[in-house]
Amino acid sequence: MNCTPTVANDAVRIVFLGGLGEIGRNCMAIEANGRIVVIDAGLMFPEPNMYGIDLILPDFTWLRERADRVDAIVLTHGHEDHTGALRYLTRDVKAPIYGSPLTIGFARHRLEEAKLAGKLTFIEVEDGARRKIGPFEIEFIPVTHSVPSAHALALHTPAGVVVHSGDFKLDLTPIDGRRTDVARLAALGDEGVALLMGDSTNAEEPGFTASEATVGGALRRLFLERPNKRIVVACFASHIHRVQQIINVANEQGRKVVLLGRSMETNVKLARKLNLLHVETATFEDSANIDRYEPGQICVICTGSQGEPLSALAKLSRGDGRFLAVGGQDTIILSSHPIPGNEWSVGRVIDDLHRSGAEVIHSGVEQVHASGHARQGELRTLLQLVRPRSFVPIHGEYRHMIHHAELAVEMGVLENRVWVCEDGDVLELTEAGVRRAGTVPAGFHYIDGTTGDLDEAPLEDRRMLAEHGVVLITAGVDKASGRLEERARVTARGWFEGEHEEQLMTVVAEAVNAALLEALDGGERDAANLTKVVQRTAGRLIGQKFRRQPVIMPAVVVL
Ligand SMILES: [Zn+2]
Ligand SMILES: [Zn+2]
Repeated sequence: MNCTPTVANDAVRIVFLGGLGEIGRNCMAIEANGRIVVIDAGLMFPEPNMYGIDLILPDFTWLRERADRVDAIVLTHGHEDHTGALRYLTRDVKAPIYGSPLTIGFARHRLEEAKLAGKLTFIEVEDGARRKIGPFEIEFIPVTHSVPSAHALALHTPAGVVVHSGDFKLDLTPIDGRRTDVARLAALGDEGVALLMGDSTNAEEPGFTASEATVGGALRRLFLERPNKRIVVACFASHIHRVQQIINVANEQGRKVVLLGRSMETNVKLARKLNLLHVETATFEDSANIDRYEPGQICVICTGSQGEPLSALAKLSRGDGRFLAVGGQDTIILSSHPIPGNEWSVGRVIDDLHRSGAEVIHSGVEQVHASGHARQGELRTLLQLVRPRSFVPIHGEYRHMIHHAELAVEMGVLENRVWVCEDGDVLELTEAGVRRAGTVPAGFHYIDGTTGDLDEAPLEDRRMLAEHGVVLITAGVDKASGRLEERARVTARGWFEGEHEEQLMTVVAEAVNAALLEALDGGERDAANLTKVVQRTAGRLIGQKFRRQPVIMPAVVVL
């Protein structure tokens, strides 16, 4: 159902466009007095069975239809699941983009690559800033996360204060000393918060997420135990604090640091410029010079911790590294945890690295990674600090949001004020409270890097092609005589070989010929109708006899 009810005068409408029901493509819109602010515009990476799909975006239809009413796009932090869809959204919605200097730096760089940045306005905001943006005053509250300079947001709206947690954890020993501003969150709680929307990623996990600082300790020990090995560490290029810790450990051992992967190089450059990464230029060495050093004198930091096939690590695992061939002299550390859906690609990279003779260490065997998301203890703490009248779990798969909703009830939010929403749901907030207010389009929007935007249909065909293959059937009919001039020829691709294929071709061809002759006898001469006969006959037979549903491509030529 897709309806847009009337809105009360002082009502604030919250439209969830992505990220509620999946980890990725985070996007929501908040509307008051006819003006709209967008919070985040992220992408999601496809599952392995989404053949040929490179990205999944939110459906921006609702925003596109209201582009002239959008006053701003506010970014909570620089991760791709919050900023990666900007290049698509800003085709139609050209509102100024707000965020911390690093968040803006990452976003601007991606938009520059797409040659879109020139037409856009970027506005950097400092920690703790309170800005009038569209119909709201918005505060940017520092939070700790797996990228520096992340923010929670407090939106002062006509219907009360709305707090958006952003992606966060409560790390009391962050690498840059910039802690989550719990004092401000508590003060907001004292003033009264109408609605809290909170990060649900780790809502199933009890306890507290380990501090990022613990990873440095684990890395130091692993480095010390391997003084003569070349060490390659893969992590997210945006995880500047992880990179800082790897560099610190390498420095302590007098290792030169080699950066591999374009995004690693650009992000390190930007973070140094913003004074968020502290490292002497002399620490770095060019990858072309890697062979001038003993293995124990080198530490490589590279992209590809999610098994991305074109990344630096995947290339190393396949022996495609330009200046570096990994082998028995190398220890590879995957300082990461696979995002759901990436387990298979990560596993393959790990296998290939083992095959090369290298030692591989990942988060399953050592504490070489710490999550950037709050666990139950931290989520409870946030609920206790903010004490919201209403609560919506966001940023999670459905089960994560249900667990987060349960936590909110345990922490004292009334059960009828906890709203488990999904993509496309709309809530209306007034001084009286929250109510549901219809739905808007919010399906997956698929992007295929080679052909552009896609809807569901070709994806379904691709799945059938991949799982069941394709069967081509051709035949020729003489129109005047109604004779079957060219008897049916059957070719299959992608599901049978040898004997089976022969059998298939013979059986299908016989059945199709019989069906065609019968239709011709009945006076049928129309090519489209004869093609349908072939389709139906072959489809039924293959389904019954072989329990398969290949894509069948019949062509009957009538001359
Ligand atoms: Zn994030
Ligand atoms: Zn996120």
